[in-house]
Amino acid sequence: MLSLLELTDLLATPQKIVITTHHKPDGDAMGSSLGLYAYLIQKGHHVSLITPTDYPYFLHWLPNNSDVIVYTDNKTESEKLVAEAALIFCLDFNTLSRINELGELIRVADAKKIMIDHHLDPEDFDDFRHWNINACAAAQLVYDFIVNVLNDGETLTKDIATCLYTGIMTDSGSFRFPSATSTVYRIAADLIDLGAEHWKIHQLVYDNATENRLRFLGHCISNKLELLREYNTAIISVTAEELKSFNIVTGDTEGIVNYALSVNGIKLAAFIIERPDRVKISLRSTGDFPANEICKKYFNGGGHRNAAGGASEKSLEATVADFKSILSEYQTQLLA
Ligand code: 5GP
Ligand code: MN
Repeated sequence: MLSLLELTDLLATPQKIVITTHHKPDGDAMGSSLGLYAYLIQKGHHVSLITPTDYPYFLHWLPNNSDVIVYTDNKTESEKLVAEAALIFCLDFNTLSRINELGELIRVADAKKIMIDHHLDPEDFDDFRHWNINACAAAQLVYDFIVNVLNDGETLTKDIATCLYTGIMTDSGSFRFPSATSTVYRIAADLIDLGAEHWKIHQLVYDNATENRLRFLGHCISNKLELLREYNTAIISVTAEELKSFNIVTGDTEGIVNYALSVNGIKLAAFIIERPDRVKISLRSTGDFPANEICKKYFNGGGHRNAAGGASEKSLEATVADFKSILSEYQTQLLA
């Protein structure tokens, strides 16, 4: 374990630091990581940000994006950086299985590990934890860590604010989920005062689709949406062949599940997709319905109550059938 005093002592002199986040990083993963990256660079540390995999093109405009090291493309360099680091910050995840092969490297690394996260059930691999499941985003916790834990709000810059605003905006559903409390709005206001251009950030993330993505979205809605009214559930499932025919790249499928959830009366939406290595399932729910429970119990995954994910080793068809067969167990809750 590492006390706060020991951590602040370490951070008082330049350190070799690695920041990492979960595989297929989303807006919060990249926003929180690049926000912390910009902060630590500003403080004079030697910082590397390593992502386990690539991430969506609509996040590539984020400040310092060109410094990001993608593990799958730079294994040797990443391994060296992890082995030599004095501190490793783990952002927006809390089990090492969420970062693929990087997880075992980090488990055995000598570095002190700091978890900044807002997911349930953290695994015990860290030395210092800034963890709160009530936070709407890991980026909110990075803000809180800098401002209230390190007492260093003075160091926040426009770049840091831009990254953190992006994380908070994407993980709070553009400030509309219940997790977007008045505190979150106050933090957002502070970030805007620091120079975050909220309108531009929204545009860069959400109004930046390729033609392929929009046509694929149309295909999913027109041809693939299945409504199971007896369970207030909607499913969109897509094959590897469909992904190929629309030239789908990382990020193109993000958010499609929300369209399924937007149908009136629908309480649970699933987006099930045939990836090269496994079938991936994304669930979204409204109200109290625990999407994460289904992912944890049946799909070796987890997440938040209203946004969760998991995977299956079975075929796409079998995974869809499995998902449908689970619904009767939850029918009362889904119809309530
Ligand atoms: P998405 O559906 O966007 O891939 O993921 C939604 C949320 O579910 C993520 O923020 C993450 O918390 C969680 N999640 C997604 N996939 C997995 C998984 O395979 N394992 C776990 N534990 N959580 C996941
Ligand atoms: Mn997050």
